[in-house]
Amino acid sequence: MQTQRSQTLFEEAQHVIPGGVNSPVRAFRAVGGNPLFIKSAEGAYIYDEDDNQYIELINSWGPMILGHRNPAVEQALAEAIPHSVSYGAPTSREVEIAQLIVSMVPSIEKVRMVNSGTEAAMSAARLARGYTGRDKFIKFEGCYHGHGDSFLIAAGSGAMTMGEPNSPGVTQGTAQDTLLATFNDLNSIDRLIASNPDNISMIMIEPVAGNMGCVLPNEGFLEGLRARCDEYGILLIFDEVMTGFRLAPGGAQELYGVTPDMSALGKIIGGGLPVGAYGGKKEVMDYVSPVGPVYQAGTLSGNPIAMAAGYAMLTQLQKHQTLYQQLTETTETIVNGIKENMKRLNVSYTINHVGSMFSLFFTEHPVYDFESASASDTKLFGAYFQEMLKRGIYLAPSQFEALFVSSAIDEAMVETIVRANYESLKAIH
Ligand SMILES: *Cc1c(COP(=O)(O)O)cnc(C)c1O
Repeated sequence: MQTQRSQTLFEEAQHVIPGGVNSPVRAFRAVGGNPLFIKSAEGAYIYDEDDNQYIELINSWGPMILGHRNPAVEQALAEAIPHSVSYGAPTSREVEIAQLIVSMVPSIEKVRMVNSGTEAAMSAARLARGYTGRDKFIKFEGCYHGHGDSFLIAAGSGAMTMGEPNSPGVTQGTAQDTLLATFNDLNSIDRLIASNPDNISMIMIEPVAGNMGCVLPNEGFLEGLRARCDEYGILLIFDEVMTGFRLAPGGAQELYGVTPDMSALGKIIGGGLPVGAYGGKKEVMDYVSPVGPVYQAGTLSGNPIAMAAGYAMLTQLQKHQTLYQQLTETTETIVNGIKENMKRLNVSYTINHVGSMFSLFFTEHPVYDFESASASDTKLFGAYFQEMLKRGIYLAPSQFEALFVSSAIDEAMVETIVRANYESLKAIH
């Protein structure tokens, strides 16, 4: 595989962009080697600058659920562009997409558009604190909510229930208001509530975690969070930036039948353009300016080009009766193929999946939280990643990312993926 142009571009990039990339995971640090620079993509295929072809299992980290170059999204963009690309004033498209989101996502009665998942989670957190008048909040180890200061927090040591900054630049003052719980462990929630009575504004969670690899909620876990939030006047916020419009038209909250007070959305919602949104109950959302006192704004929020793409994407997802069934079946075929391969090779790893999300963890133990995910052999994953890449399969370059299946993956591609998995597992053992 020739990757000369990618190598040259990466060298140039490092002179003018920190680490040569605009988002760290793209740099391949977790798997070794240098990143591929991408020139184009079509359907399930992505092409690098040296014209190598790969089957995609990243899909822009989620948005390309219908594959690349979706015709309806492209047509919506082409129609929107001649009207000028930005006004900073209200447009009809914003009303339409808000109505559509409200009709699709169970928890959302009103919605505010922003420009990224990070912004959505940050804004929802500020609103939850402003609305409840409480400073602290609970998040889960291993869940990612974008790079807002109060989310870049690691578990504190020993008896401490408050967090520690996870990045220089995040202050102790910020960290002390973030409480860290353990995914799938309601006892850890009970302990935090007991030691911080009356000062917890919200519990924020990825209802299906995708940012420590794919980790599913145990039966009763989300319901348990809902019950505790109701009992203590805490807002439950689902960060569905990844799972929204992916696990069902209404996201994980529809799939699992647990309705949060607020939801953060991103990724798929923009059809590939930079869009995020947060929404929830009317009375909570009406606490945002200009009707309420909690400030939040955005020059390019609700941008007409982004809204056109997002609207075209979401209408397709809402209308397509068999899409989610089909995505699940494709994913299950891949997962079953991988399990079969492991049996043939007499190796046992853990594979988690739901809908069109899955992760192969290089550990034989079940993965249900951050600690069990961290038991994975990341070096072995790195070797596996490189073997898959050689065979034309473009995986997320980290053990701790979920893989996304798009509707553009057909039966022949599934076979290619499963065969590449067999040969790659064989090569590393
Ligand atoms: C990707 C992601 C974010 C951050 O979204 P950006 O658009 O990258 O800022 C937040 N939460 C979750 C669950 C995500 O997967």
